[in-house]
Amino acid sequence: MVMFQLSKFMESSSTTNQPEAATSRQVEDVTKGAFRFECNGCGDCCRGGGNVHFSEDELHDLKEFLKLSEEQWLHLKDKLIQFKKNELFVHSSSKACIFIDRDNLCRIYPVRPLQCRSYPYWSSVFESNKELKYHQKKCPGFDREAPEISTLQIVRRINQTLKKFNEQQKNPREPLVL
Ligand code: SF4
Ligand code: SF4
Repeated sequence: MVMFQLSKFMESSSTTNQPEAATSRQVEDVTKGAFRFECNGCGDCCRGGGNVHFSEDELHDLKEFLKLSEEQWLHLKDKLIQFKKNELFVHSSSKACIFIDRDNLCRIYPVRPLQCRSYPYWSSVFESNKELKYHQKKCPGFDREAPEISTLQIVRRINQTLKKFNEQQKNPREPLVL
């Protein structure tokens, strides 16, 4: 699932070791100027073994979205968060994300974490041709018929992901997970 893929970006990120902003040259070197992507909603990225990372902010949004009482939240939190790494709370599963339903729909889609909403626009996906090929093999969204995305658009989207990630790190809300 993409969870394995998604985790790499976040795991290489921390408040002390931020990934660098992407440059057009770097992206062009990796894509050779040809890149196509459109998520088809297959849900493969939410199944299988892997990690999903939530910021403190995202946990607040999740709790509000699901309209959970304190008791319900504590119950969910115990199942959802297995450990904390680089200021992010990690949902780790060998089977599937806790939020994927039988129809391959994300139960928390409007508040899904940045990790999920920003794929595949992370520095790590474009760090080498080998890495990009790995993702292309795993995810059907990299289809030959999918819309072409320009290098400039890729760079903008990667940098937007980094910006949002950094904002979350700078302005955390009060702890929901102790
Ligand atoms: S196309 Fe890729 S990103 Fe979209 S749901 Fe399927 S595996 Fe996930
Ligand atoms: S939070 Fe939603 S989009 Fe993200 S891995 Fe889980 S089911 Fe998939």
